[in-house]
Amino acid sequence: MLEIATALEIVLSRASVLTPESTTHPLGRVLAEDIASDLDSPPFAKSTMDGYALRSADSGNSIAFSVIEEVPAGRMPTRVVGPGQTTRIMTGAPIPEGADAVVPHELVDLDAQTIRLRGSIPVGQFILTRGKEMQTGEVVLPRGTRLTPASIGLLAAVGRTAVQAYPIPRIAVVSTGDEIVEAGQQPGASQIRNSNGPMLQALGTSTGAATQYMGIAPDQPEQLANLVRDAFDAAEIVVISGGVSAGSFDFVPGVLKNLGVETHFHKINLKPGKPLLFGTLGTKLVFGLPGNPVSSFVGFELFVRPAVCKMAGQAEPGPNFVTIPLATDLKTDNNRVTFLPGRLEAAANGYQVRPGKWFGSADLRAMLTTNALIRVPAGELALAAGTSVSVLPLKW
Ligand code: AMP
Ligand code: MG
Repeated sequence: MLEIATALEIVLSRASVLTPESTTHPLGRVLAEDIASDLDSPPFAKSTMDGYALRSADSGNSIAFSVIEEVPAGRMPTRVVGPGQTTRIMTGAPIPEGADAVVPHELVDLDAQTIRLRGSIPVGQFILTRGKEMQTGEVVLPRGTRLTPASIGLLAAVGRTAVQAYPIPRIAVVSTGDEIVEAGQQPGASQIRNSNGPMLQALGTSTGAATQYMGIAPDQPEQLANLVRDAFDAAEIVVISGGVSAGSFDFVPGVLKNLGVETHFHKINLKPGKPLLFGTLGTKLVFGLPGNPVSSFVGFELFVRPAVCKMAGQAEPGPNFVTIPLATDLKTDNNRVTFLPGRLEAAANGYQVRPGKWFGSADLRAMLTTNALIRVPAGELALAAGTSVSVLPLKW
């Protein structure tokens, strides 16, 4: 059976980076150009304190300086600071000519228009020199950077309101199953509500992708084909839940084949979620996730999210596993590599992970307190508390 790592390689090799576009809303996107500063920052030597600008060489115990001017932020000084003189200056204001240090106002004694120092002042104290943060022409955000809130601030500082960035692929979510009804409906005797549709839409949204919910297809090939065709028209990534196993009402594999989808794999050494299907239609991707909610969830985190990240231009699309000690003993006996719900918690010397209780892939409630998936190898295992395990932290 196909190993998870190999399956991921196949997915990532088919997930091609989208064509960059100009955007004015680049949060979470990856830059497709180098961003250089158009100015020196700060543009002038500036004070980092409310205080007094003076010549440090004149400073010493109880030396008196006469205040010659007051400079708030946003104004230029007009007077040169000479020996025995000082300018009252606010944080962010330009340092007047002649001065080379700032004394915070709480460290001087003020008497009318004269201040007295309580000690000598080193050259450059509380002055940010011109260009200390960045200089004109310097690349401050290289191509390939994923734009965080701090990067958004920096873009504004260098005057960039629009940048070239990779788009995030759109996702279309299709639910399947004769037994599935919408959340707003009262299920009949043999029916359940659609939890996967809204959950997968939320997972899609959490990647930054515009995610559209297409509705529920019955277990009937024509109607399923119509909905999947609409999904391919609407998005670069189609995510289908249910109908992908080997039952006589599992029409997803056959319908995809008839639509011209090339299937790259359809079974993985993975629990929950063995019958996961991955295919492509041209440059578009399709994932058939098994219908049990935890299987759909795990399949999304292991394969769909990394595919989104890759197409969105991220150099390291994940999933990014970390090695963390177990908080408690863990006994497992699985015929496949298994992902268990877990909770990362802070411990005395770093983090540890606590396995959650669950009864299997239908146990969506087990995921409520989960913020990590614990990967355990196949076989009968008794892992003692403190044993290091491979963990995928989850973030939305
Ligand atoms: P399937 O993969 O279609 O064989 O479905 C496996 C299990 O998941 C069955 O018990 C289904 O009823 C359930 N299931 C399928 N789709 C959904 C859904 N959208 N929401 C909740 N449960 C589902
Ligand atoms: Mg089904």
